Amino acid sequence: MITKFLGRVFSGRMFKSAKPRIIPVAEHGISRERIGSCALRTCDALQEAGYSAFVVGGAVRDLILGRTPKDFDVATNATPEEVRGIFRRSRIIGRRFRIVHVLCGRDLVEVTTFRGPADVTDTSHQVEDEHGRLLRDNVWGDQSQDAARRDFTINALFYDPAREEVWDYHGGVADLKSKKLRIIGDPEQRYREDPVRMLRAARFAASCGLEMDAATRKPVKALAPLLANVPAARLFDEMLKLLLCGHAAECVKRLRKEGLHHGLLPMLDVILEQPMGERFVMLALKNTDTRIRTGKTISPAFLFAALLWHEVLAAWKKHQARGMPPVPALHEAMDGVLDQQTEQLAIPRRYSSDMKELWIMQPRFEQRAGQRPYRLLEQPRFRAAYDFLLLRCESGEVEKSLGDWWTSFQDADADARATMLVADSAPAKKRRKRRRRKPADAAPAAE
Ligand code: ATP
Ligand code: MG
Repeated sequence: MITKFLGRVFSGRMFKSAKPRIIPVAEHGISRERIGSCALRTCDALQEAGYSAFVVGGAVRDLILGRTPKDFDVATNATPEEVRGIFRRSRIIGRRFRIVHVLCGRDLVEVTTFRGPADVTDTSHQVEDEHGRLLRDNVWGDQSQDAARRDFTINALFYDPAREEVWDYHGGVADLKSKKLRIIGDPEQRYREDPVRMLRAARFAASCGLEMDAATRKPVKALAPLLANVPAARLFDEMLKLLLCGHAAECVKRLRKEGLHHGLLPMLDVILEQPMGERFVMLALKNTDTRIRTGKTISPAFLFAALLWHEVLAAWKKHQARGMPPVPALHEAMDGVLDQQTEQLAIPRRYSSDMKELWIMQPRFEQRAGQRPYRLLEQPRFRAAYDFLLLRCESGEVEKSLGDWWTSFQDADADARATMLVADSAPAKKRRKRRRRKPADAAPAAE
């Protein structure tokens, strides 16, 4: 097989093939029942066909930490085409990394072929930019080479479900037990190859409660600017992982500590420095973390809307100060903030329209008279916008009484609602008069 042949060529000619420490179940403590059934079936089928197959990466790390993995990846010495040939319901995806998605019912497992370092004389499989960043990486290798090109020791663990063994090439199990985050290989070179590893370091340190090893940490501050060369879409994916890992508040603190937040989320530098902005962002992150940890769904659009809200507020104020009426000023502010962020972080369009909707609805919460509150309640995104309002109240940006009013109004029956409106009718009348005089300030555009 070509994989085996290449593995032999590389290991014999250019690289030493390291030996793993094989750790028995009594020591690693992972019970087979905790492996997802799709991953088990995938490993079984590959092994039956004569290949080696292991659950790898984050799932093994999480199981050793006693956590429930969110997904399972499998690594094998079969090439993508060979894997594709074994599983009827599978497809090859990716360019930078070619991998196979194997489907079992609605479950999906990612199968990757062991990768090795490229033959330096052959540039057709591995391409790097002028900073040493790898642009493509599809050179097959053996298992020890695959372990060596993974990012951290704790992510380079292979679990064989048939033998219930963990194969550990870099001391990842010991690092997990002693709560150390260690990059594999020369830290500077590994960050240059892929600057995203610096963000991943912050994420794993924060989310797994690990201490960054001194050598792993040292080059980060100096190399942080290399993140500017990473394509925006990839940064966005990694930021999303960070924000949705259930420990976002800790991760963001860690990003700041390592000097990685500059230019990454442009607003983050500014916002975190303002007390009100920091309070709001941290509340939004903690709120997201709690939802994720209690198994509730969360919408990335909500989170990004929250992260950018104070940026929008500042721009909104600025445009109004220049004489623009509130509603057009809000639109101008939203567009400006989104344009800037889309460029840097590639926030996908589908999120930006949801974000705008959340923002546009905020001033409408101030209007508590006549038919308007009823119309707001009927908006499909009311619930999210209301949650957003509560965050604003909690952070001290708006009066708590406004959030309380909406909490009561939603749950009240028709009569009680009418009473609440009546109580608010005097300011409403004033508002109507004012609107007749100043049409430009009329109903917000979203209505
Ligand atoms: P998560 O639980 O967030 O999915 P993970 O460790 O599984 O964490 P993935 O991004 O899913 O992270 O990547 C799967 C595995 O691929 C990692 O465990 C690691 O071994 C390897 N890997 C991912 N990204 C990199 C990278 N940038 N450099 C080297 N190895 C990487
Ligand atoms: Mg993963």
